[in-house]
Amino acid sequence: MKKNSSSSPSIGQAVYLVSLGCSKNLVDTEVIAGVLLTSGRTLAFDPDEADLYIINTCAFIPAARSEAQSAIEEALEWKSEKPERIVVVAGCLTEWDKSGDYRKKYPEIDLWTGVNDVDTIAALLDKQSALANSEKPIWLYDHTTPRLLLTVPHMAYLKIADGCDNCCSYCAIPGIRGALRSRNIASVVAEAKNLVSAGVKELLIIAQDITAFGTDRIADGENIVDLLKELDAIPGDFVIRLLYTHPAHYSDEFIDFMARTDTKVLPYLDIPLQHINDRILSAMGRKVTKSQTVELLKKLRKKIKDLTIRTTFITGFPGETEEEFEELVEFMKTQNFERCGVFPYSPEPGTPAAKMPNQIPEQIAENRAKKLMTLQKKIMKKANRDWIGREVCMLIDEVDGKVAIGRSMMDAPEIDNRIFLPNAKKIKVGNFCRVRITDADSYEYIAEQVTALKST
Ligand code: SF4
Repeated sequence: MKKNSSSSPSIGQAVYLVSLGCSKNLVDTEVIAGVLLTSGRTLAFDPDEADLYIINTCAFIPAARSEAQSAIEEALEWKSEKPERIVVVAGCLTEWDKSGDYRKKYPEIDLWTGVNDVDTIAALLDKQSALANSEKPIWLYDHTTPRLLLTVPHMAYLKIADGCDNCCSYCAIPGIRGALRSRNIASVVAEAKNLVSAGVKELLIIAQDITAFGTDRIADGENIVDLLKELDAIPGDFVIRLLYTHPAHYSDEFIDFMARTDTKVLPYLDIPLQHINDRILSAMGRKVTKSQTVELLKKLRKKIKDLTIRTTFITGFPGETEEEFEELVEFMKTQNFERCGVFPYSPEPGTPAAKMPNQIPEQIAENRAKKLMTLQKKIMKKANRDWIGREVCMLIDEVDGKVAIGRSMMDAPEIDNRIFLPNAKKIKVGNFCRVRITDADSYEYIAEQVTALKST
C-alpha cells in the first residue's frame, strides 16, 4: 500500500462493498459502511466509480470459500486496470485463513481485516496497516457504532450476540468468530428504538444461537426473555422475528413467553435440528436427544398458536448409515415442518467431525439431501395449499407495476416463501395489509387483497 502524507482519509474515497454470507455478516458489512461514511468516504454502487473495493467474506463451508475466492478474483481484475486501486478482504475468510494460504495466494490484496476490525477498518486504511490485528475475535458492535442499513428500509437485522460456545463437532464458526459474547439489553433496545423510529417494520433478531443470549454474562442476570420483553415494550407498529435458536436451550420461561399472543414477537421459530438419530446427535455434539427433541416440538405445537417452525438438517454426517438416514426421513414425515433446509455434510478442516472415521462419500450425502428436500417440498406444498381461502397479514417487500410481492408472518426474508399479490391497490413497500390466499405451491402463494392497509 502506498503511503500518503495527508492526515485526512487518504486511502479509498469512494468505496464499493460486497457482502457475502449470512445476515450476521451483513450486519458487519452495514457497520463497515457506516464507519466508512463517518470517516468522510462515500459509497459507490458501481465498482468503476470506486477506488476502494471491500469484500466482507464468509468462510463457513467450502462453497462459501469458493464464492469468496471468485469475489477476490473479480476485485483483483478491477484493480489490474488501475494499480493504485485498493482491495480489502474483510471478515470470516481472514479469520479462517490461519495458515496464511489465502494471503500467499493473493499477495496483491492491500489489506486483510478480521472480525475484530469491523469498526476500525477506516482507521486501518488511514494508517495503511499491511495486516490487521490477529487477536482472538472479541469485537461486538453496540448502539453507538455507525451502521448503514443495506436491506430494504422496512426491515433490519438486530445482532444481539456474536460468537458461539456450543462447539458442534462439524462447525467452524467458534474458530472463526470466537466465543459467545452478548450485548447488554440496554444497547440492543437503544438500537431497536432507533431502527423503529427510522421506519423499520420487521426486526429480525439474530446471533449464532439467540437462546444462549446472556449466558456468557450470568452475573448481569439478563436472558433472552428479559430482552424480548423490553423489545416488545417499544411503542410502534412493527413485528419481531426470532432466528437461530438451539433446541437444547429452550426454557419454560421462553416457551411461555412465545405462547403469549399479545406481543409483537411472531409465532415463528427457527430451530436447526440437524439430525434426529441419537448416535448422530451425540457425535454432532448437539446436547439433545431424539426424545427430548420430540418432547420439545410437542410442547411448542401445543402451547404456541399458529406456530411456524423452520429447521435445517445435515445429511451424510460421518458414519451415517442408511438406517439412520431413514430414521430422519421418517421423522420428517411425522413432523411436517412448515419450512426446512437440508445440507449435505462437508468436512471442515480443524473441526472434530472432519477427523471422524467413516466419512460418507460426497455423492451419497448429496443424494440423501436431495431425497429429503423432495419430501419436504411435498410436505410444504400440502401445508401451503391448506392456507387457500384463509386470510393472512402480509408485509410488502416490493412493488413491481401492479404486482406487490411480500411475505406473511410465517415467512422470513430471503429463506422462506413469498406472496404475490396481483392488482395491488394503494399499497406501498413497507406496508402491512390483509390478503386472502387464492393459490399456493411449495414456495409461493398467490393472494387477493382484502384491505388496502391494516396493522399486524
Ligand atoms: S450452535 Fe453449533 S452449528 Fe450453530 S454456530 Fe454454534 S457451533 Fe456452529
